[in-house]
Amino acid sequence: VIEIRNLHKAYGSLEVLKGVHVTAHRGDVVSLIGSSGSGKSTLLRCCNLLEDSQQGEILFKGEPVQWRGENHARRPADPKQVLRIRTNLSMVFQQFNLWAHMTILQNVMEAPLTVLGRDRATVEAAARGYLDKVGIGDKCDAFPAQLSGGQQQRAAIARGLCMEPEALLFDEPTSALDPELEQEVVKVIKDLAAEGRTMIIVTHDMKMAHDVSDHVVFLHQGLIEEEGPPETLFGAPKSERLQGFLKSTT
Ligand code: ATP
Ligand code: MG
Repeated sequence: VIEIRNLHKAYGSLEVLKGVHVTAHRGDVVSLIGSSGSGKSTLLRCCNLLEDSQQGEILFKGEPVQWRGENHARRPADPKQVLRIRTNLSMVFQQFNLWAHMTILQNVMEAPLTVLGRDRATVEAAARGYLDKVGIGDKCDAFPAQLSGGQQQRAAIARGLCMEPEALLFDEPTSALDPELEQEVVKVIKDLAAEGRTMIIVTHDMKMAHDVSDHVVFLHQGLIEEEGPPETLFGAPKSERLQGFLKSTT
């Protein structure tokens, strides 16, 4: 579904990604791990074109993102393509980013109605279905502030699902949560993985990464230091940096 080839990204003179390759085929769960500042969020944001980049290719379902300009002036060329890619890759953030003035149901319905122009009755039925699926079907009429962090994050996941995207992108979905609430969200993510959803997950939760991933990528200072199936990456890490990183997280 998504393929990143040789991606380079800098903020001014700060090189954050220095030639990164990541592929998520349909049904794959790919986890991105690495220390703070290694470029994980930047890489995820590049996937759905929330960030520009200077070099490299991004392909969505085999279709390369078209760029205009070169290097530092490079921008996506086709707004329709950007919209198509963004609406097909739902992003779930650490801080949920729910709209405080809307009910949970309205939050979930908003983008399918306004961005995709879908019919209200269909969207409402789908939204209620996704809220049930993540276990908060009884919270439709509540406002975000009335929910626990874990419930808010599950609402944010339902909102992502309601776009019926090709893939979900998660940026530290559990790190703002207390441990008990974290597990509610981990369970939802595990269920989605078991359903065969395509997901890219930035996480500090090594247990979740181990349990849900088909492929794990360890980033270090903007480069892939090591990658592989979770059994190998966590069970027999080769790089000393990865060994050190895994020690520091347990
Ligand atoms: P964390 O685990 O702390 O979330 P991360 O791996 O997600 O870290 P990024 O957020 O991708 O790291 O940031 C990588 C580097 O890019 C950091 O040095 C950061 O300071 C820098 N950076 C990120 N966003 C910007 C920005 N908008 N402008 C300038 N520098 C930025
Ligand atoms: Mg980050």
